[in-house]
Amino acid sequence: MTWVKHKKIGIAEVYSLTDGMFRLDGGAMFGTVPRVLWEKKTIPDTQNRIPLRINPLLIQLHGKNILVETGMDDKSGEKFETMFAVKRDQSIFSSLAEIGLHPDDIDLVINTHLHFDHAGRNTNSLLEPTFKNARYLVSTQELHDATHTHERNRASYNAHNIEPILEQHLFDTFDGESEIYPELSVFPIPGHNLGQSAVRLESNGQVLIYTADLLPTSAHVAYPYIMGYDLYPVTTLEIRKHFFPQWHDEAALICPPHDPNWSWGRLEGNGKGGFEFVGL
Ligand SMILES: [Zn+2]
Repeated sequence: MTWVKHKKIGIAEVYSLTDGMFRLDGGAMFGTVPRVLWEKKTIPDTQNRIPLRINPLLIQLHGKNILVETGMDDKSGEKFETMFAVKRDQSIFSSLAEIGLHPDDIDLVINTHLHFDHAGRNTNSLLEPTFKNARYLVSTQELHDATHTHERNRASYNAHNIEPILEQHLFDTFDGESEIYPELSVFPIPGHNLGQSAVRLESNGQVLIYTADLLPTSAHVAYPYIMGYDLYPVTTLEIRKHFFPQWHDEAALICPPHDPNWSWGRLEGNGKGGFEFVGL
């Protein structure tokens, strides 16, 4: 069964793509939430790892093909693939092919952040830009942090996904909220790290939000279900409390980047001041 799904958001065509599955430690994925609670939502394997999917997005707007995230690093070798149980049942390339697109057709790549499970196919096995006709958009803060790593964030960045793009001057950087088209913008959602951005598409009264790791999966929709990976978890909480009610009120289509089951869904009030994720 193919993962690829289509929606129309006003004048834009939107496709949910996939670059396969992987697994991360369930404890790390749910931070301070005890396993007895999170295992009601997802079932870990014998190594305590939970299933996650890589869900990039393709937006067709004003005649351009815009790729939100490039997928899972494919250049880090067998040990990496085993550690993260990488399963390439479908890929960003097979997903694009299903909608009649080749990597050369991509005009713009939006890197919400540069972690290996989000920007992993920025480059190919020859360490060339995978999307050679595209500009790559990333926040100034994120590009700085990804190239000046420290002991707490170093494992999340692999230079081979970043350096070749830098060397060929293909990155465009932005600060704060930035408009790409009147319908499409990127905006800061710090917490997971300092420089992460989300994507907002709004056309004819319809709103779509690509949440990046502010909401990695639908199982993380309760406010305190914040990843142990987050560098600034209280900031994540504040950003969630700022945006979740707004996205609920707008009936926005919410796209979590790692949900194993849902491409998108909506936030519904849970009657206790928080939200539930209803997949569509
Ligand atoms: Zn991620």
